[in-house]
Amino acid sequence: MPLLLSRAFLSSFLPTKPSFSMAFCPANSTLKSRLRGVVFDMDGTLTVPAIDFAAMYRAVLGDDEYLRVKKENPSGIDILHLIEDWDPEKQRLAYETIANYERQGLDHLQIMPGAADLCGFLDSKKLRRGLITRNVKMAVDIFQKQFGITFSPALSREFRPYKPDPAPLSHICSAWGVQPNEVIMVGDSLKDDVACGKRAGAFACLLDQTGRYDSPEYADVEFKPDFKVTSLAEIPSILEENFELAP
Ligand SMILES: [Mg+2]
Repeated sequence: MPLLLSRAFLSSFLPTKPSFSMAFCPANSTLKSRLRGVVFDMDGTLTVPAIDFAAMYRAVLGDDEYLRVKKENPSGIDILHLIEDWDPEKQRLAYETIANYERQGLDHLQIMPGAADLCGFLDSKKLRRGLITRNVKMAVDIFQKQFGITFSPALSREFRPYKPDPAPLSHICSAWGVQPNEVIMVGDSLKDDVACGKRAGAFACLLDQTGRYDSPEYADVEFKPDFKVTSLAEIPSILEENFELAP
């Protein structure tokens, strides 16, 4: 898998005026952007995917509504947003269903291959690392404790508004005292992680282990990643080649 996006992939994502910047300058260029921190998504990025999101959406919405909503949102369903306006009792049941699926995910929690080494690499460069998830704080606490890796700040869905809103990433940049364009958001969701990162003005790296985002239905999405990887193990060299790593 190439370290940078292929030309074909880029052109499919950037049909008009390319806005990618100095990150694409060759290695050793004096124009490299400064990178001071990395912000990660949790589920499916730092952890092996363990939540069956399609089953969760189906359980919350019912079969017919699920199919209707899915058709309207080919790039992904925002279940938290969808249930926001439901009446309280219906919403309570929906949150309960979501929590059940998330709990099942916690039972099968595994760290993503490459995650520990990547965090070690960031430590060696003294780069900050933060976390933004739409999961609950308890899940973040369990993840950090179980694998002995900490992220600060680590924002869960108790922080509103959550991804894909840029607010959590802007909050982390303020807490770190850095500019958004000195940060890269890494995640496995185009509609949540890449959108959150790009909206905030940060770089974005999409983790796509299976190539699912190569599908044409994603060609016209509004927010495109600066980089795409199939494994976290690819990220250290991408960072070294494209950024000045300076805390
Ligand atoms: Mg994810």
